[in-house]
Amino acid sequence: MTDSDTTGEERARLFGDLLDDCVHCGFCLPTCPTNVLWGQEMDSPRGRIHLMAQMHTEDVLTETAVGHFDNCLGCLACVSACPSGVAYDALLEHTRHRVETEHRRPRGERALRGLIFSLFPYRRRLRSMRGPLRAYQAGGVSSLVRRSRLLERISPSLAAMERIAPTLSSPPPALPELVPAVGRARARVGMLVGCVQGAFFPEVNTATARVLALEGCDVVIPRDQGCCGALSGHAGRLEEAAGFAERLIEVFERESVDRIVVNSAGCGSGMKHFDRTLAEAGAGEARARRGRALSERVVDLTEYLVELGPRAERHPLPLHVAYHDACHLSHGQGVTLQPRTLLAGIPELRVSDVPDKEICCGSAGVYNLLKPEAAGELGDRKGRDVASTGADVLVSGNPGCSLQIAAAMERAGSPVTVTHTAQVLDAVERLLGRDRSRVGRRTRFPSAEGHDTYPPESGTVT
Ligand code: SF4
Ligand code: SF4
Repeated sequence: MTDSDTTGEERARLFGDLLDDCVHCGFCLPTCPTNVLWGQEMDSPRGRIHLMAQMHTEDVLTETAVGHFDNCLGCLACVSACPSGVAYDALLEHTRHRVETEHRRPRGERALRGLIFSLFPYRRRLRSMRGPLRAYQAGGVSSLVRRSRLLERISPSLAAMERIAPTLSSPPPALPELVPAVGRARARVGMLVGCVQGAFFPEVNTATARVLALEGCDVVIPRDQGCCGALSGHAGRLEEAAGFAERLIEVFERESVDRIVVNSAGCGSGMKHFDRTLAEAGAGEARARRGRALSERVVDLTEYLVELGPRAERHPLPLHVAYHDACHLSHGQGVTLQPRTLLAGIPELRVSDVPDKEICCGSAGVYNLLKPEAAGELGDRKGRDVASTGADVLVSGNPGCSLQIAAAMERAGSPVTVTHTAQVLDAVERLLGRDRSRVGRRTRFPSAEGHDTYPPESGTVT
């Protein structure tokens, strides 16, 4: 095949074939969050597949159908539930791409999407917001604004953005481009920094690099890495997603690494399907092949640590945590056992599952900004389910979920410490096992200690 072989016609034919896989059995309905919320067939996977078939055979894209496609969280719970193996993820990607290229949205919606996608895929732009955001949070303006409900009146999406913004503290020092293995190196891995993760949760990246190093990995963190394109791809902006993907592919192709470790579920899920995104964006077979080669090296942190096997000692952590399955880790990558295996390997740690764990928390990329009401309801449901476990700490593998659930639980008056699997492992390998006095309901997982473990070498990653 040549670059010109992946034509729109070919993609449409493949789409038709994938649609035929659905036998309309409805097994996917109970796990679909919008079906759970509204009980409407057209807001269920089966209903949306019916609308996709209509779009395909009649070549029309109605306003009503776009509404139902927009309501979909892209959580992929239906993919896990489907006994016929319907590739709803590929169907949705193609459909959203058509929506974004053929459908003209109202001006306000275009402006909101423009704002979101000129900000969130750019780590440095997000980082530049940290200062003003901290001042806003520290000065008490934030609570005034919330009490006045001013933002809700101006724009529910802006209000949602304000609500889910993380409470920021001083960031840890920037990571160097190489974090050497502690002891004998048994692997050399690349690490994705991520946009939201890198800007708002740099301590998760610090913990990830530290855990990998303690487990015997040389960790390569290329300074010029940008967005992986997952957020754009999730929203159907496939040309934009393909551009980000190709820049990232070039960056990691230059590095001699065995695997590329990702600690954010949404990014990992997107990166494992670079070939599909590139093909769907019309990039051609040769470029899709490069994407596939990169995708084959992508691995979630927990997946990789289990594959590698433990080397660092895990100290006891007498705490009760609930583990939240991020949709793009469980449904998108099939990674459910590995985080639980790692947590179960920590002495004295009690781990609970969250009830209805397959149902999305409402974060879903930028869904909570585009559909704040539905996302808020799902967040509240998830918050109640988390609270019902009685756990002291919620562990998640995706920054969007952490923000969404923390905001929901604060809204409900039952704030919980939300942390990443990497931070729990970092804590038990380095700190909490030596200092039991730090363990308790108000435990802050370490973000400030031990940064000087990594003196910058050839540069730092910001
Ligand atoms: S997507 Fe799968 S589970 Fe859902 S109706 Fe179709 S065949 Fe059944
Ligand atoms: S991706 Fe999620 S919201 Fe969309 S149809 Fe499937 S289960 Fe429902």
